[in-house]
Amino acid sequence: MNTRLAKARASLSLPQRVTRAREMLANCEMCEWRCGADRTRGESAPCRLGRESFVFNRYMSLTEEPEVRPAVRVYLGGCNFRCRFCDTAPACFEATSGQRVDPKVLAGELAAAVESGAKSISVLGGEPTIHLHTLLELAEASARHLPLAINTNLYMTAEVIDLLDGVVSLYLADFKFGNDACARRLASVPHYFEAVTRNLLRIDGKTPMIVRHLLMPGHMACCFRPVVDWLSCHLPGARFQLYTGFVPCYRAKDDPTISRLNSRREIQEAVDYLKGKNLNWDAGSDGQTREQ
Ligand SMILES: [Zn+2]
Repeated sequence: MNTRLAKARASLSLPQRVTRAREMLANCEMCEWRCGADRTRGESAPCRLGRESFVFNRYMSLTEEPEVRPAVRVYLGGCNFRCRFCDTAPACFEATSGQRVDPKVLAGELAAAVESGAKSISVLGGEPTIHLHTLLELAEASARHLPLAINTNLYMTAEVIDLLDGVVSLYLADFKFGNDACARRLASVPHYFEAVTRNLLRIDGKTPMIVRHLLMPGHMACCFRPVVDWLSCHLPGARFQLYTGFVPCYRAKDDPTISRLNSRREIQEAVDYLKGKNLNWDAGSDGQTREQ
């Protein structure tokens, strides 16, 4: 990691970060596709995003981890992944459906929700980090600190993490795949494992994080175990949440490996494996909540 560069970015004021994020829109490298699309001119990027952000769903949630709930869930449209099993597809792939974000208006509404008792603003997608400029504009427009909990697939570039340092209160970080072949086949993304593990290490020590893994049927040896092994080796004691309530949503039914629920035996095997690992994991949690 280039520590000097990271510190320089983190020392930027919020208005300076907003300016930098807006510059990035013209040659987008917010995620590891590094597509270079000019989002200010509507060039086609893999995520289909332009310069504006749209909220396609919003509600109060009690289903996330205790550190987060109750949370206002805000769904931003557009994603850089195409997970076959996505439970918000195809709506989350639409970059311009729902309510266009006016940062001042939305920041005011979210601040009011926090005043009324919401512990966090849980931002989902799609993928929130490809809305970097919008997240920073929300923070800048708010009179009070917004406790942003970012649900991410961890595919952002390092600069995005640095520019969000101190703005994001918590990452809800999905570590979905244990190897590049499963990531390519199930989410259509290249060089996944290197990008995600690099980002986990970059976030660690800067921003609190809950690492989530959705157990997928038939992906015990290729995905679940490598994820847990990597975490317990490189981030020992990490806060971890296992989700076992996989549902074959969207195009999962067309894929022979993930067209079913997890079996009881698979869930028990995963739980037993986790018990031997050095991770901060709540064995009493039911882990059934759908989160995919
Ligand atoms: Zn797999």
